Amino acid sequence: MCRFAVNRYIIPACSYCNSIIRINHNRYSNNLIWFLTNQKPIISIYNAAMRANLTIGFASDQAGAIGMPINSMIFGPNATRNVPRATAISQQFIHNKLHQMLIEEYIKMQFTQIRNATVKINYAGKKILIDPWLAEKGAVPGFGGTINDHIRNPTAELPMPVSEIVDVDAVILTHDHPDHWDDAAKNAIPKDIPFFVQHEKDAQAVTSAGFSNVRVLNKINDYEGITLIKTPGQHGRPKVLEDMKELLGDVSGIVFKHPHEKTFYIAGDTVWCQAVEDSLKKYHPDIVVLNSCDAKVTGDESIIMGKQDIYEVYKAAPEATIIASHMEAVNHATLSRKELREFLSEKEMMQRVLVPEDGESYTF
Ligand SMILES: [Zn+2]
Repeated sequence: MCRFAVNRYIIPACSYCNSIIRINHNRYSNNLIWFLTNQKPIISIYNAAMRANLTIGFASDQAGAIGMPINSMIFGPNATRNVPRATAISQQFIHNKLHQMLIEEYIKMQFTQIRNATVKINYAGKKILIDPWLAEKGAVPGFGGTINDHIRNPTAELPMPVSEIVDVDAVILTHDHPDHWDDAAKNAIPKDIPFFVQHEKDAQAVTSAGFSNVRVLNKINDYEGITLIKTPGQHGRPKVLEDMKELLGDVSGIVFKHPHEKTFYIAGDTVWCQAVEDSLKKYHPDIVVLNSCDAKVTGDESIIMGKQDIYEVYKAAPEATIIASHMEAVNHATLSRKELREFLSEKEMMQRVLVPEDGESYTF
């Protein structure tokens, strides 16, 4: 433990810094910042600060512990006198500079495929869970009247404990379907969590499950500095959509934007359609998540994306990384990861299309 007590320093009101590291303005000096933190992040902050030619103070025990060169270290409250490079720049300047570097060093978005459409993202310092379907494998019957409805759902286990999955700051439900939101999720998620839904009807469903902080998404929303944009989708090709309008219902996707993060788009349960094309054109997402198991009710009309839909998105978003989600977890899926990978390999799309296993994470 550092020998400087935390309460001797001012901790700036900065959600990034507080969530990652405590930046403390040394009360003996206008031009030093003391970091009180564990050893690992210090190394990259140190490197970043050196690149920017900033002088940084470290608590001596921590600096020593990570083996920094002795002539770069500044010890204790007398540091000002020992620092040749200390300049008269303001605390605010240093803070702003380091704040920016911290973001570059630390705030990289992370995507975790959990199972089916259930994914978790760390975005601008917030952990957000999307479409939590948390039942155990085989807990419920297959969706009656769909392909392979003799197979029980979910068809795969969760890859991690429920407690880990629900350790988040907010939840988003793209639409209230039983493979996106269930009793297990209702029981496991804290009832006061910010919970975003597409419209009033879904808000009522979530509220009636006991949730007290349900927020209906507008077109554009702010959540703790993150811009959430609700996007439309089409839960099936025209004929099946017409035949089963009531059952398939309304769906939404979400675009996440933040000045320090890549733009991230979850298309939701939709096939390739004008709405998806428009969202790609309008928001230029760097990362696009597509629900890709080519689920079918009966007959041959898909209700979510399959190989060809992914190919269309691939062509329409030539810079984007695509993630195939909603794979191998429901009875009516008709596209496996293996078959999708073979298709991607044939078309030489592997570079930009990722097919995560359940439990797999990516950092962008
Ligand atoms: Zn679904």
